Amino acid sequence: MKVSTLLGLLPGTVIASDVLSVAFWAKEKNQLYDFISTNNEIDYGCRPVVIPADGEHKVHAVISEEQLSDLKRSLDPDIVRVETLHNINKRQTATAPIGKGDRFKGGKVAPRGLGTRKPSEYAGLQAAGIFNADEVYTAMKGLQKEYGMTLFTPPHKTFEGNTVIGGVANKAEKIKKDKQYIYFTSGIHARERGGPDNLIYFISDLLYANKHRKGLTYGNKKYSNKDVKTALGAGIVFIPMTNPDGVRYDQANSNLWRKNRNPKSARPNEPLSVGVDLNRNFDFMWNFTKYFDPSVSPASTNASSQAFYGTAPFSEPETRNMVWVYDEYPKIRWFIDVHSAAGTLLYSWGDDVDQSYDRKQNLFNPAYDGKRGIVDDEVYKEYIDQEDWDNVALQANLTTAAMEAVGGREYVPQQAVGLYPTSGASDDYSFSRWHKNKKVNKVYGYTMEFGYPTNFYPTSEEYIQNIIDTNAGFMEFILTAERIGLEG
Ligand SMILES: [Zn+2]
Repeated sequence: MKVSTLLGLLPGTVIASDVLSVAFWAKEKNQLYDFISTNNEIDYGCRPVVIPADGEHKVHAVISEEQLSDLKRSLDPDIVRVETLHNINKRQTATAPIGKGDRFKGGKVAPRGLGTRKPSEYAGLQAAGIFNADEVYTAMKGLQKEYGMTLFTPPHKTFEGNTVIGGVANKAEKIKKDKQYIYFTSGIHARERGGPDNLIYFISDLLYANKHRKGLTYGNKKYSNKDVKTALGAGIVFIPMTNPDGVRYDQANSNLWRKNRNPKSARPNEPLSVGVDLNRNFDFMWNFTKYFDPSVSPASTNASSQAFYGTAPFSEPETRNMVWVYDEYPKIRWFIDVHSAAGTLLYSWGDDVDQSYDRKQNLFNPAYDGKRGIVDDEVYKEYIDQEDWDNVALQANLTTAAMEAVGGREYVPQQAVGLYPTSGASDDYSFSRWHKNKKVNKVYGYTMEFGYPTNFYPTSEEYIQNIIDTNAGFMEFILTAERIGLEG
């Protein structure tokens, strides 16, 4: 089955077939596990997330019409059946528009979030659409101008020569690099629209509410001005768009582009072989064929795959920029990489099931090379200290509870491995740093998956709901981090 059948989405090419949002259903989790193992080049989104539903289990995916007809021929519907949810090409006409021009006027105008506005004002934000890539930069400059927010530029330029922009939000006037404890990133998977907006609107809310002595309201969830000051006091380092080349490409072509635009491994006449899946490029069991059982595919060595891992750990400027932040702000303790679209908050580990009884079963022990990643076996499970496990799970539970309390949709906290392992992901890399080198800070790393399964391009209503959901989640995450502990 060729991934290149997805080429139908590229404008200017012959439309081979439409692209469909589907769910694969099975009674038992194992049946879906077997299905994913044998169909690992299917686009399951950021990672295959299995969701219990109606007494069964399902996993969402994006496939072409050709893939669907192949699967219909080969699948036994008594074991795994496929349900078509909608046609993504047709649905694209109903998705939120990308903003035109520059609503922040080169940085003269600061963005203002939803938490300090009345719901009647949301319609204007909805109509203005998703931030275009240029507006991400001018929004950040607007926050600098209005509130004196500190901006920074990580050192590595992207393949297309773009710089990445970051900010530090803190109630202190002078930013001390060793007093920032929270780290948020978004936009690593280009097509996950609205991720940068979620982060920028949240920081805008905090800075506005701090300046004007207000609290924040997200649906049914309210936070006081004291909460706002506590959150800013924790010090938030953030990069709203870690993959600007990919975002520009996706916004220009609406082709569900996920990777960056590095052509180093590209092959002639294979447009999908451009780019690296940045969330498989981190130095966490990157060389997966060495670490994992041969039957699992936590990433891909195929340049045309959505999960192509690159040419070396940290081969990409975008991932090196994300890690540079840990050296620059050495006390960061809590990290979220924001993704869509699933409705979960994932905590470590992502390579195998957590266990706290056998320290020898750990990612650095070569005795277990070639044995990791089979979720249902007893051969290997990943060691996590019980106190860390309690902390990361409590945080996930409280954050998703707040995301639900706004009154929108369900969010499920779960261990990142879920049903299927990943390698080279930002959340696991962040948590593994201290395990490798006890001189660096211990970081609890998370992946937040906002939105609705496979709706990488939200409708205008979903776009607004996603901001409300994630912003309540970010707020709860920081307040919970403060209660559990900001110092390692
Ligand atoms: Zn993603």
